[in-house]
Amino acid sequence: MSSTALKTIYLKEYTQPPFVIDRVKLHFELGEEQTVVTTTMTMRRDGGGDGALRLDGRHLQLLLVKLDGRVLMAKQYEVDEESLTIPMVPDSFVLEIQTLIKPQENTSLDGLYKSSGNFCTQCEAQGFRKITYYLDRPDVMTLFTTTIVADKAKYPVLLSNGNLVAQSELGDGRHSATWQDPFKKPCYLFALVAGQLEFVEDSFTTMSGRQVALRIYVERHNLDKCDHAMQSLKRAMRWDEQVYGREYDLDIYMIVAVDDFNMGAMENKGLNVFNSKYVLARPDTATDADFIGIESVIAHEYFHNWSGNRVTCRDWFQLSLKEGFTVFRDQEFTSDLFSRAVKRIDDVNRLRSYQFAEDGGPMSHPVRPESYVEINNFYTLTVYEKGAEVVRMISHLVGAAGFRKGSDLYFERHDGQAVTTEDFVQAMEDANGIDLTQFKRWYGQSGTPRLDCSSAYDAAAQRLTLTIRQSCPPTPGQATKLPFHIPVEIGLLAPDGADCPLQLAGEAAAMGTSRVLECKDEVQSFQFINIAHPPVPSLLRQFSAPVKLNYPYSSEELAFLMAHDSDPFNRWNANQQLALLLLHGLIEQKINGGTFDLQALGNGYSLYSEAFGQILAEQGGDLNLKAMAMALPTENYIAETLAVVDPIAIHEARWLLRGALSRDHEALLCENYENHLEQGRYNVKPESVGRRAVKNTALGLLASHDGSGIIELCYSQFNSADNMTDVMMALRCLTDIQCDERQQALAQFYDKWQGEPLIVDKWLALQAMSRLPTTLADIKTLMNHPAFNIKNPNKVRALISSFVNGNAYRFHSAEGYTFLADQIVILDRLNPQVAARLAAPLIQWRRYDEARQLLMCAELKRILALPTLSSDVREVVSKGLA
Ligand SMILES: [Zn+2]
Repeated sequence: MSSTALKTIYLKEYTQPPFVIDRVKLHFELGEEQTVVTTTMTMRRDGGGDGALRLDGRHLQLLLVKLDGRVLMAKQYEVDEESLTIPMVPDSFVLEIQTLIKPQENTSLDGLYKSSGNFCTQCEAQGFRKITYYLDRPDVMTLFTTTIVADKAKYPVLLSNGNLVAQSELGDGRHSATWQDPFKKPCYLFALVAGQLEFVEDSFTTMSGRQVALRIYVERHNLDKCDHAMQSLKRAMRWDEQVYGREYDLDIYMIVAVDDFNMGAMENKGLNVFNSKYVLARPDTATDADFIGIESVIAHEYFHNWSGNRVTCRDWFQLSLKEGFTVFRDQEFTSDLFSRAVKRIDDVNRLRSYQFAEDGGPMSHPVRPESYVEINNFYTLTVYEKGAEVVRMISHLVGAAGFRKGSDLYFERHDGQAVTTEDFVQAMEDANGIDLTQFKRWYGQSGTPRLDCSSAYDAAAQRLTLTIRQSCPPTPGQATKLPFHIPVEIGLLAPDGADCPLQLAGEAAAMGTSRVLECKDEVQSFQFINIAHPPVPSLLRQFSAPVKLNYPYSSEELAFLMAHDSDPFNRWNANQQLALLLLHGLIEQKINGGTFDLQALGNGYSLYSEAFGQILAEQGGDLNLKAMAMALPTENYIAETLAVVDPIAIHEARWLLRGALSRDHEALLCENYENHLEQGRYNVKPESVGRRAVKNTALGLLASHDGSGIIELCYSQFNSADNMTDVMMALRCLTDIQCDERQQALAQFYDKWQGEPLIVDKWLALQAMSRLPTTLADIKTLMNHPAFNIKNPNKVRALISSFVNGNAYRFHSAEGYTFLADQIVILDRLNPQVAARLAAPLIQWRRYDEARQLLMCAELKRILALPTLSSDVREVVSKGLA
């Protein structure tokens, strides 16, 4: 914790590390009161010069420094809050450093800490400097040998990266294990785990025939919840061989699940540490979304072995090099194994509901940021999700085969190196003989580009002219932007709903019915010829670029696209846009002081309702897509489309529309519910997930109006379901209704699952997201419940984040803002990373009306006025107020 002025780090100030570490030996003596770390580094000066050696270190008690075997006197080095400096070192030398740390007191969960009595580490981005003094930067890669010494009874399992090379009993009740990692790595990929853990084991034969042992370590009572994670790992390993030609390289791959974790999971070489949320699953304990999420996160961390570990980042500005690429890889994995269209819709929903707001807010930054104060604040949706979109656009531009050629070249050229996003793009350019110079602006320019499209049909010439104008709003530090290189995939629908063959003026023949237009200028026109009748354009198919697209569609045209577009993403999107037209109308009525009147909105509602009825009546097809088509735009996405956000009007308008649809289609909704009841044993195959999705979406809609018997229906599903997906949906509906069954179900649920922390998180989150007026009061009560613990990030995310990010209706009030600021202040002293993340909704104050703006700013100022504040929170809040 520090109250000193913020120090900004700039990309343009990057210099190569002045020293190389050829190898490092780490020796840990783990204890209850103190842990002693001895680090022995074989080092040499790189690139000449005779400068001092400066090592990073934070919150360390320095016990000893030895240079080439000789103990240094205190006057021979300098220590401050952030570093250890030795002014005079020879050109090559061995440096031994001994530090003392107290992992049991480390609540930041960064560095070495304890979770449920076990030791574990999290070193990305800069946690290693809380373990020992070191060159804590990703471009310093070295060979690690790690020895762990601990009490054998308390810590029977001792793990680190690489292969186990020695084990011994020390005779005094302690034992030791030595691990050697044959691959050079930066220290952010270091990991250590020690504790009372058991494992499930399996094996995988790689494409070259090597046997790899696979182990998942958990606490004993969770051994029966690892099967899905293990199967997911094997699927990921096979997929990476088949799609990218990448093989695993060590003899063992280990995953450890811990309850206290800041993020989702961490790809430490050969020893992934996971938030238990992304490992543990059984049909009765995890929802379909949990199962799919686990498969995706397991795959993501595994894929990092190549995109992140073998080829790593030169500096933290390049974070998207590994994250954007790896998110793209895990998205494609899920698309191949589950459903491509459904996955795309899911990802775009998240991007538009959350990343667009980040891109347009005070923390807006490019995919490759130019500067930061606290790197932990840049593990953002922009770096991850928009970063993945940028990689996806490259794949659109070069095609699947070209992308594989590019990735092969990238891995081959840079194996064992720490590189930049430029190097990644260069490999794609070289492998495909293309020029992506302009495209690279996606890495350097922040903000969400806007495409304004129009079309003109010339009947005599049978020609359609499509004009696309691009712009990008100013963002902090970037007043003006240069045009982006944007792949816009389009199709044209003839009046019968069929795709027109696409032939641009000047082309000899039509080429396909869906194609990617490359937009590089501020304004560009495309002339399609031999178009016999005025078509309806289908624009930005597959959401081929992360932009906001505007086209003056009429309600009729949107209904037509909903019915006929051959691109499933755009069919869904037309549905969303048609609903948005209605919702905008309703919100306006409310803001202008009126009452809701659907009939006053012209034929919009009847068009939408008719289309909605057709969706419900549809038989067969992808049920997951059907469920998505039954859902209205999210409140966050609706907010994204408004100049001034009124969260109350948004919620009430959406609720009213849900209620109207539900009343008008009650019979069909009941039919959909009945027809998709569970059949046979629970499984997570796409068809079964789809059945449950349709059934539960129908139930949710039915519960949004006061139809008779709905409470009984929900309560009966709650009691009879054999899987967590159905239980949760029933309970979610009940949590929104004030009735006895609500209290009974919540009590029953807690009673049954109080020993399962992940399930208790679901219970907390549901109550935090309830639309009942007592929600904030209930949350305050729950904070004193034994189920809640502010030191555990999963609990904070379940109760507090769910409320402030997922319940705008009940959060946006003076009491809500004060509550959030209070929690940020408390958390700042415990876990600055988690505290800084929580500030996101408050720093978005500019989007709201003046009264809300004043209230939100007052809370931000109150936080900033505190005498001690972490640099994490200080950076976010001060940028939020700037
Ligand atoms: Zn990652």
